[in-house]
Amino acid sequence: SQMFERSSDAILLLRDGVIEKANPAAVRLFCCKTEERLHGRSLDDFSPLKQPDGVPSAGVSAQRVEEAIRKGNSRYDWHYLDCEGQQFWAEVLMTSISLDHKHLFYVVVRDISERKRTEQSLHLAAQVFENSHDAILLTDHGRRVIAINRAYSAVTGFVPDDILGKPVSAFRSGLEDESFYREVWLSVDNAGHWQGETWARHSDGSLFPAWVNITAIRDSAGQVSNYMGIVSDITERKKTEEQTRHLAEHDFLTDLPNRVLLLDRLSLALAAARRSGEKLAILFLDLDRFKYVNDSLGHSFGDRLLREVSARLVRCVREADTVSRQGGDEFVIILTDIGNAERAAHVAETILRAVEQEYALDEHQLHISTSIGIAMYPADGADIDTLLKHADVAMYHAKQDGRNNCQFFSSEMNARVVERAGIENGLRRAVAEQQFELVFQPEVEIASNTVIGMEALLRWRHPELGLLLPERFIDVAQEAGLMIAIGNWVLQEACRQAQVWHEQGRLLIVSVNLSRAQFTHKGLLDSVGDALAASGLAAGCLELELTENILQDGGPRVTETLAALHKLGVRLSLDDFGTGYSRLGQLKDYPIDQLKIAQVFMNGGTDTTAIRTIIAMARSMHMTVIAEGVETNEQLELLRALGCDRYQGFLADATLSAAVGRVIDPPKVAEAASAPAPGHDPTLPAVPAADGR
Ligand code: C2E
Ligand code: MG
Ligand code: MG
Repeated sequence: SQMFERSSDAILLLRDGVIEKANPAAVRLFCCKTEERLHGRSLDDFSPLKQPDGVPSAGVSAQRVEEAIRKGNSRYDWHYLDCEGQQFWAEVLMTSISLDHKHLFYVVVRDISERKRTEQSLHLAAQVFENSHDAILLTDHGRRVIAINRAYSAVTGFVPDDILGKPVSAFRSGLEDESFYREVWLSVDNAGHWQGETWARHSDGSLFPAWVNITAIRDSAGQVSNYMGIVSDITERKKTEEQTRHLAEHDFLTDLPNRVLLLDRLSLALAAARRSGEKLAILFLDLDRFKYVNDSLGHSFGDRLLREVSARLVRCVREADTVSRQGGDEFVIILTDIGNAERAAHVAETILRAVEQEYALDEHQLHISTSIGIAMYPADGADIDTLLKHADVAMYHAKQDGRNNCQFFSSEMNARVVERAGIENGLRRAVAEQQFELVFQPEVEIASNTVIGMEALLRWRHPELGLLLPERFIDVAQEAGLMIAIGNWVLQEACRQAQVWHEQGRLLIVSVNLSRAQFTHKGLLDSVGDALAASGLAAGCLELELTENILQDGGPRVTETLAALHKLGVRLSLDDFGTGYSRLGQLKDYPIDQLKIAQVFMNGGTDTTAIRTIIAMARSMHMTVIAEGVETNEQLELLRALGCDRYQGFLADATLSAAVGRVIDPPKVAEAASAPAPGHDPTLPAVPAADGR
């Protein structure tokens, strides 16, 4: 009775399945205040209707009762609802006692809610551990492996047998040195954790990049009892990162490094060269006339050509060098550790030869060349910007030098570039401020010794530099996009002047030089038409001078443009003839009225054969022929003997300026033409002469 009354375990006495007696601990456990409230009830009355997993719970204790009768006792865990409706877990020990041939049960009920909770959370933790997609490894405080989960085996290939009980240090990648691991463990022990990227070893011996997270686990006394490591295989992530970076740093079309990566590599190369005292070469390449390929064959063709050029460039340099595409048809190459400038020149030469080899794309065989500028470190600059700029300047000079060649940067080049920039700025103002003038050089008919036309030659009266000849500014004007405006002014002014002569009775043809930019510009016909309309000049009195190069580079619309000009009624003259590479067959098809024999055949040592050939050619194509740059009477006599139609040059200028003082009766021009003046004095209209050179 004492034991029953004072036991801290709840004790119930069951008879016929219902509670007959309950001790005070039982009253407390079931929260029913008085023992009476327990009397006459079965244990099932305190069992919730549903088990925690939802299965109806009726009859459970009946089974236990049977078992207790059979075996003498029954032990089980069950959960009950106390009188206040609170659920608790209990460990039940039911002992059967036979008394008076009746079964009594002595039942000890112990609250094990706390233990159940712990068990449950342990179970949960184990589930989480086992089912986690993170590869987890647990060690004891001595860093020996005590557990790994399934994911760990999946990621690393190691199964528990391989690894349990071994020190984690036995599974290092071998790629990090001892100091790395020292740092890691120092951080874990001091800060409680470490995370970072490193290499991990797979059971098959391969290595993979891993993100590792290590946490120290402390016991209730604050001592490190375990370590937990979480390992993620970041191979895929690294690959994507790598791809993203590759895209950001490479040119989409050719897969060469782009400008971003070039600058990066260049700064590294410069730093290395500074340290080692080595030289660097920066090559700036621009393909020659690439725009023509693009325009005539289409962009996708141009793209393929660029890819092929890139491949050739890469083959010309060493592994350590960088070939990058800057966009368009521009490439920059860094040659590291180049030794001397001759070596750089040698590479550039190799590149020139490689690029100019024929390209076979589909049924097209085509050729392209490149111009290369070279700047050397340290001679031509100490920083990236200067070196790139100077390589660009040198490239520009390679272009000026006829393309398909390479040029080293020099300070004189730079001076010219600076001058050029000055010219360009000045030109913009010159257009607005009307600083241009025209001078006229007479064109004389040899047979009649009559001035029959005037060539308009452009001059720029520069506010500081004085009178400038076209060679100083025409190219700059073309590249700066100013040539259309200037050319239009020339057309207007030349036509206006010619009309003034006409009104004075001097029937002269005016010749106007066309630039490449003007010829290819879509507004050319309108410009010519406007100049004629504004001046009132008859179209037949305007002659346009083109060069062979313009015709060749003018693109696919050359024939159309020439036909349209011809239809307008203006005359067409081929300037500087004999210096280009016109194909005769092609010339025949063009509506050209006159060939103008290039000056070199006069002044580069008179080339009789060439002159004779050109005259014969002109005859066969029913064109007139004029010689320019005629300076002496001997030259004129030769031309006369060879049957040349016309001439112009300083000889005519000189006689003209000598004759300017004479009063020439304008109406007599035509008369004079029929009766040539004695000697070689051409009959003169009083017009401003070309400036003497
Ligand atoms: P071009 O059309 O072949 O002009 C002939 C050039 O030779 C002129 O030089 C002229 O002054 C020069 N010259 C004339 N007679 C003689 C001579 O007996 N001996 C020598 N050595 N030279 C002589 P300029 O005026 O400097 O013009 C050079 C070039 O500039 C022209 O060559 C022409 O292609 C271009 N140009 C001139 N004016 C214009 C223009 O208004 N528009 C365009 N687009 N180009 C022009
Ligand atoms: Mg000319
Ligand atoms: Mg000429």
